Amino acid sequence: MDNESEQTLLADAASRAQRYLASLPDRAVAPSTKAVEALSGLGGALPEAPADPAQVLARLDEIVSPATMAMAGPRFFGFVIGGSLPISVAANWLATAWDQNTCLDAVTPGVSRVEQLALDWLLDVLRLPAGCAGAFVTGATVANMTALAAARHRVLADVGWNVEADGLFGAPPITVLVGEEVHPTVLKGLGVLGLGRSRITRMPVDAQGRMRADALPAISGPTLLVLQAGNLNTGAFDPFDVLIPRAKAAGAWVHVDGAFGLWARATRDRQQLAAGCELADSWATDGHKWLNVPYDSGIAFVRDAEALRAAMAVTADYLPTQSLRRNPGDYTPELSRRARGVDVWAVLATLGRSGIADLIEGCCRHARRFAAGLSTAGFQVLNDVVLNQVLVSFGTPERTQAVISALQQDGTCWCGNTVWQGRAAMRISVCSWATRDEDVEKSLEAMIRIARS
Ligand SMILES: *Cc1c(COP(=O)(O)O)cnc(C)c1O
Repeated sequence: MDNESEQTLLADAASRAQRYLASLPDRAVAPSTKAVEALSGLGGALPEAPADPAQVLARLDEIVSPATMAMAGPRFFGFVIGGSLPISVAANWLATAWDQNTCLDAVTPGVSRVEQLALDWLLDVLRLPAGCAGAFVTGATVANMTALAAARHRVLADVGWNVEADGLFGAPPITVLVGEEVHPTVLKGLGVLGLGRSRITRMPVDAQGRMRADALPAISGPTLLVLQAGNLNTGAFDPFDVLIPRAKAAGAWVHVDGAFGLWARATRDRQQLAAGCELADSWATDGHKWLNVPYDSGIAFVRDAEALRAAMAVTADYLPTQSLRRNPGDYTPELSRRARGVDVWAVLATLGRSGIADLIEGCCRHARRFAAGLSTAGFQVLNDVVLNQVLVSFGTPERTQAVISALQQDGTCWCGNTVWQGRAAMRISVCSWATRDEDVEKSLEAMIRIARS
């Protein structure tokens, strides 16, 4: 491909992407059945010979763009998703062009140091201890697992066992304490680490899903306590200020899964929700949820940098690992990986502390408006709306499910279903920078119209 066709191809990609983004506010949020069926147009046998890249790109755009869910748009409220701020998309494009293997400072100093800067800023905006080690990974699933690998190292090293060298066969047992409402991906991480998905103690929770403060058993021996900032249904927070000092006094490692809830710490008016969280040993959060950077982006923070390094660093004769500077690859499960910290740095540099607070607080304000609008219309909101999550029942489980399905079909907005403490509910999660007041009103209008029909 010559220079000129390369430039034309990339410019075409940029303008197709811009057209796509511009279409999001007005298109149906879910793709049509017809658009999904048309995906078969990409199939057929593997091409035997090269094709024109410009035509390949055009086919991708023409066939796949209509078959996407408008997750980046202003009225997607399913799961806990988040969009992508324009600066994060732009920085992501640039970093993709750089194509840096973000592992060794000596080889890719530019992006390695941007990641260190992004890490320092994240600790600052989230009000976590300066100087914690960090890892830019794919999401909170891997961030939780990464932090728990450091935890596994430390609690076993403290009783004279080297888990990286000798594995878990014959190791002293580790007690793992989690809440009844633990995220399923934390259990997956525990399974991958050899700690067992089921070999855990689940502690009782209250009506909002918060671990009960009186539930902590007596702790002895190597112990991990996993707490949660932001329940995926209710948005509730475990009582950190009570549980963490108690568990730490007994020698446990405390980890906080804060995939989205940790961002309450960046607000002006909701810091209290996560008070005491900074006393933990490690934390996991997502960039691709509430920070609104593109997939995939998660971050693990670990107070004990040596524990994280011990769990993750590799040495080999061909790798220039001796560096006075931080080698990102010493802290991540991956060796080769994209420069995820670049998108994060660009958002923090653009929004600053007050812009981040506005982003998080704005979503919480929208959630409150949803709750008020739906209860005024006579529907039952099942949770205390403290953050960005709203659970609403439209009556019987069948009725609630019928409303959710009809709403998804309608296309004005998209919400998913859940079961909260035995009750079927629609879950509204507001995490996108793109959602404006008029999007909330338009969505409320659709919800109420459908629920009444
Ligand atoms: C989303 C979420 C996860 C998993 O995060 P991924 O980014 O999807 O890997 C873990 N815990 C909580 C509380 C979450 O909301």
